Amino acid sequence: MEIAHLPGGTAVSGQKQALVAGGGGFIGGHLARTLRERGFQVRSVDIKPFGDWYQIPEGVEAHQLDLSVLENCHKAVRDVDVVYNLAADMGGMGFIEAHKAECMLSVLINTHMLMAARDENVGRFFFSSSACVYAADKQVDADVTALKESDAYPAMPEDGYGWEKLFSERMCRHFREDFGLETRVARYHNVYGVEGTYDGGREKAPAALCRKIARAVLSGRHEIEIWGDGEQTRSFMYVDDCVEGTLRLTAGDSAVPVNVGSCELVSINQMVSIIEQIAGITVKRNYNLDAPKGVRGRNSDNTLIQEIYGWEPSISLADGLERTYRWIFDQLSDREQAAV
Ligand code: NAD
Repeated sequence: MEIAHLPGGTAVSGQKQALVAGGGGFIGGHLARTLRERGFQVRSVDIKPFGDWYQIPEGVEAHQLDLSVLENCHKAVRDVDVVYNLAADMGGMGFIEAHKAECMLSVLINTHMLMAARDENVGRFFFSSSACVYAADKQVDADVTALKESDAYPAMPEDGYGWEKLFSERMCRHFREDFGLETRVARYHNVYGVEGTYDGGREKAPAALCRKIARAVLSGRHEIEIWGDGEQTRSFMYVDDCVEGTLRLTAGDSAVPVNVGSCELVSINQMVSIIEQIAGITVKRNYNLDAPKGVRGRNSDNTLIQEIYGWEPSISLADGLERTYRWIFDQLSDREQAAV
């Protein structure tokens, strides 16, 4: 196994060993850092070359491996107490609408990770599912009724990506029921934040809009393109809340899939206005009605997560966007300076 980064210091006996699969990714990087801060020995695995990882936190052991291959999953989970499987081939709406087969091939990752975790007697297995498992016909109105967990059935998820997530959720359930592997499943709703994707085609709406407005500030051309008419609604969860929810679900006793999402609903136009305020400019909004837009409206019903865990995401969109915008702005201006 190729190792980029061996943790400083020696392992403390009694410390639990966690594996973050997809640790080179956005949420995986934040999760690995938090686990380390909370005293876990952390192994992070991703298919990407180390230079492309968003972060390799201090003290984290990093490996580059393709986890769609069963043999590599065995290597990754060896001697691990808890697995967080966040590895998936995914991106924002622009990516998942155009790469359905690639999204569905992530089934190989979760299936092989489950098999390896079962064979290596892993104590807990967390799977990051998505709000894309929810039936599309429940998301046709911008004035939404928040989605509760039971709305996933009868099943009609997002084509490609959503079907893979729903299938893998069930695979987790059956590995628990048939093989006794303790699986936990979160349905994340739109996660955003610092140290994530903000360009290249896989970015999601909050990062894309922060980038467009930051570019408008830097270039002086106060004009941006918005996908759709901007009236589509969503809720967006800051990554710190996502990590906290992930840790709570994994440590908890309940195995039912639970929404981990913010319930602060905004339209894309409202989000643009918040970012404009942070950036201190107003932009001309050019609507591209032919661009991928996803469902018309979606929000997270947090009754179940409150009932089971007495907790729900609470970082406001204004706070989270402030941090995200500043970070993206700094990345872009650093790049511009480096190019001069
Ligand atoms: P990300 O793309 O930044 O991270 C996923 C990581 O998995 C990437 O670094 C990628 O290189 C890695 N990966 C892909 N194929 C692999 C393979 N064969 N072997 C090893 N690693 C592989 O995405 P993210 O936003 O951090 O999302 C993490 C998880 O959360 C994913 O499963 C995603 O589907 C789920 N999720 C994310 C959101 C969101 O808004 N970000 C919403 C719902 C669900």
